[in-house]
Amino acid sequence: MAAVESLFQRELTDDRWMNDAACKGLTHLFFAPPAERPQARDRRETMARQVCGSCSVHHICQQFARTNHEYGFWGGESEDERHTAGYRLIAPIGVRARGAG
Ligand code: SF4
Repeated sequence: MAAVESLFQRELTDDRWMNDAACKGLTHLFFAPPAERPQARDRRETMARQVCGSCSVHHICQQFARTNHEYGFWGGESEDERHTAGYRLIAPIGVRARGAG
């Protein structure tokens, strides 16, 4: 068990998996521009989700974002979806900040 945990921890701190990311050059789909409207966010995240669906490092990316409380769209998940799954942002902004309690 300790070996599995050690391997998993090593994966989370080893960012070589990012070399295989399908989203290279597509940052605009994965991070919101200032003052993005909800409809635009939905469209952007739909396109990001399609990219993630074909990505070979999807699982480790999702776990990385959850563990590190990342902002943006990672591993097929939006910030809201990570928040709902119990992986809260450290400093939420916008809707999440107003709803935080
Ligand atoms: S799963 Fe999505 S966000 Fe993560 S590396 Fe792949 S394409 Fe990029």
